Amino acid sequence: LNPDKNRLAPEEIEIERKLRPATFDDFAGQESVVENLKVFVAAANQRGEALDHVLLHGPPGLGKTTLANIIANELKVNIKVTSGPVLDKPGDLAGLLTGLEERDVLFIDEIHRLSPVVEEYLYSAMEDFKIDIMIDSGPAARSIQIQIHPFTLIGATTRSGLLTSPLRARFGINARLQYYTTELLSSIVERSAHILGVPIHPDAAVEIARRSRGTPRIANALLRRVRDFAQIKGDGTITLDITRFALTALQVDENGLDEMDNRILTAIVEKFNGGPVGINTLATAVGEQAGTIEEVYEPYLIQEGFIARTSRGRVAMDKAYRHLGKKPPGSSLP
Ligand code: ADP
Repeated sequence: LNPDKNRLAPEEIEIERKLRPATFDDFAGQESVVENLKVFVAAANQRGEALDHVLLHGPPGLGKTTLANIIANELKVNIKVTSGPVLDKPGDLAGLLTGLEERDVLFIDEIHRLSPVVEEYLYSAMEDFKIDIMIDSGPAARSIQIQIHPFTLIGATTRSGLLTSPLRARFGINARLQYYTTELLSSIVERSAHILGVPIHPDAAVEIARRSRGTPRIANALLRRVRDFAQIKGDGTITLDITRFALTALQVDENGLDEMDNRILTAIVEKFNGGPVGINTLATAVGEQAGTIEEVYEPYLIQEGFIARTSRGRVAMDKAYRHLGKKPPGSSLP
C-alpha cells in the first residue's frame, strides 16, 4: 500500500473525494496548523481580501489536498487544481491565472516539480498579481503586462527541501503537516466507515489505524480492503478478527510498514551492519532517490524509533532489529 496518490486507480481517487472532509471542523488533527489557518481565513474573509499564499508541506497522504479544498470552501471561493509536472509552459499557467476570479484559490500540487521558467512566471503573479502575455504572432508578436485578480496560491509539496528560496519567500503562510496518532486515525477510519455505510467495531478501527503508517490515505485504503473481506468472509461487519485476517492476507506488516520501509531497515541492518550509513549510499542500496527517502520514508521510521539520524549517517535502533526478527546487538533478548 503506497501512500503516493500518483499510483491510485481512478475509482480510488473517486472514493478519496467522497471521504474528504469539507470543513475545518471535519478535518481531524493537525491542530496548530488548522487553528492558525482558521484565523487567517477568518481575517481574510472579514477584510474581503485574498488570503496570503499558503505552502503546505509534509509526506504524501496527510491531507494537503484536503486542506487546500477546505481553505477554498471556507473562503467561499472556487478552487482550480493543477500540479507542477503538468504545467510545462508559462502559457498553461497564464490560462489558469487569467481565469481566476477575485480571491479564488489556485492549488498547485507537487509545486517542487515546476519547471524553472514556469516558476519564474509565477513570481510576479504572486507578488503583484501581474503577468506577461504574448499577443499577436509572427513579426507583430509582443508581450504585454496585464493585471489579474488577487488570488491565493496554495502550493503542496512532499519535498520542501527542493523549493527554491525565491519561491519559498513568496508564501506568507507556511505549514508543515505531521503524521497522525493512532487515536486520530481511528476516528478518521470510523468516520469513513460511516460514510461508506459499513459497520465497524471500535477495536477493529484501532487495529486499522495502528497499521496505517500515521497516514489517513493508507487508513482509508486499508478500510476499503478490509470491508471486502468482511463482506465475503463475514457478515459485512468489520470486526477485529476479520481485520486481522484481512491485514495478514494483504501482507500489511504488524507495524504497518511498507515494502520500501522494510527494504530500508533490511539494508541498514544487513548490508551496513546497523549503520551509520550515509543517505546516498543507502539510497543506492535500496534503489530509491535520496530525497524521497529523506522526505517520505525516513520521517516515519525516525518518529517510530526504528532508525535514528546521526551526524555520520542513519543507524538502526533495537526496534528495527526486532522488527526484522533479529537480535539487537548488545542485547540478550531475542
Ligand atoms: P495529500 O494531498 O497530503 O497527499 P490528501 O489530502 O489527498 O493528502 O488526503 C488523502 C486522503 O486522506 C483523503 O481521501 C482524505 O479524505 C483523507 N484525509 C487526509 N487528512 C484527513 C483528516 N485530517 N481527516 C480526515 N481525512 C483525512
